[in-house]
Amino acid sequence: MLVYKFGGASVKDAGGVRNLAGIVSGVNDDLIVVVSAMGKMTNAMEKIALAYFNGEKDVCLGRFEEVKTEHLKIADDLFGKTSECHEKLSVWFEKLNEKLEESPSLNFDFEYDQIVSYGELFSTTIVNSYLNDAGVKSNWLDARKILKTNEQYREAETNWELTEKLMKQSIAPGKNRVYVTQGFIGGTINNIPTTLGREGSDYTAAVLGYVFDAASVTIWKDVPGILNADPRWYPGTQKIDEISYREAIELAFYGAQVIHPKTIKPLENKRIPLLVKSFLNPSSPGTRISKIEGHLDLPSVYILKKDQVLLTISPKDFSFIVENNLSEIFEVFSRRRIKVNMMHNSAINFSVCMNDTDSLDDLLKELSERYVVKYNDNLELVTVRHYTDEAVKNILKGKEIIDSQVSRKTARYVVRKSDWRF
Ligand code: ASP
Ligand code: MG
Repeated sequence: MLVYKFGGASVKDAGGVRNLAGIVSGVNDDLIVVVSAMGKMTNAMEKIALAYFNGEKDVCLGRFEEVKTEHLKIADDLFGKTSECHEKLSVWFEKLNEKLEESPSLNFDFEYDQIVSYGELFSTTIVNSYLNDAGVKSNWLDARKILKTNEQYREAETNWELTEKLMKQSIAPGKNRVYVTQGFIGGTINNIPTTLGREGSDYTAAVLGYVFDAASVTIWKDVPGILNADPRWYPGTQKIDEISYREAIELAFYGAQVIHPKTIKPLENKRIPLLVKSFLNPSSPGTRISKIEGHLDLPSVYILKKDQVLLTISPKDFSFIVENNLSEIFEVFSRRRIKVNMMHNSAINFSVCMNDTDSLDDLLKELSERYVVKYNDNLELVTVRHYTDEAVKNILKGKEIIDSQVSRKTARYVVRKSDWRF
């Protein structure tokens, strides 16, 4: 069994779907194809969900029209003006329309999942129809029925036992079969749709790989593999041919947007290699992530996280920062699902670099009840993994450093927001 995951960029238009079919038709094995929503469709679906929740009916329906038009255009390109695919899409559109006609509950995260999950239902409907048209006999699977999760909407967690059982009931390996299913979405035991967190399709692929002991999981991207920096801000990037699971987890943790952080663990548990390859150049080898004993020579890897804030928290009574303060502060972060990117403590301060969020004011208000909280915004966090003095000097040229943390392999700097020019 192989698992292929195609992200939004790979299926952003009819050409992308044709290209996917070309890649899939070359496979001589059982294959599960995990597909994300097309292009930037998840962003568009988020806007529909927000307008719906806020009771902005015209905005909501207007945006829904745009989403429908975009999908229908791709279907027209692939199948002509009418087709079975058009009919299947109309059924989804009708269902979502019914939802949008109801009034929303008070739970935004719940409503979000009920709406945003359609992005992947649309995309897989088109991909599956096209594969069958192109002569690849392919079966469409509803991930909401086989990837079972808890009810933590927008960040649902897998119920492994049920998922394993249901996946094995619906997927029968052995005859070079092709299955197409949605990334990013799942369902509760009551069959209520959930989502797994933005960019969660990689994780879906990992779950399937794990359950079926796949020979490998491949993530098809618009870059040649894992690069040592994002070419959008760093010139002269290098492709990394091979890294260990451990290194991949580190890179994802520091914010490299190569793979969703949750993806590696299930694969590592069963030693299933993860391949990151270019859908534009499918025969080139990409990057292989696997169990690697011993040392690999890796170049310096640069990771930039934008829109950061730095909080400095100290007890109001000038007492020390000790364990019970820390656990109280962490309770607040965890309840608010705040992603802490870097932290350290001194005798009377605890400082945290985190993503800027809309709810920052609320957070500051809550913490200020018991602590003196200072904050600095308009910051960026740059990480140099496998740093050298030269690499650090280069990257920090002209930057105002606000905070830093340097360990044996990793140097991290909170810097004032600026243009990155090299
Ligand atoms: N479509 C979802 C997103 O854009 C999931 C994914 O692409 O992995 O976040
Ligand atoms: Mg996507």
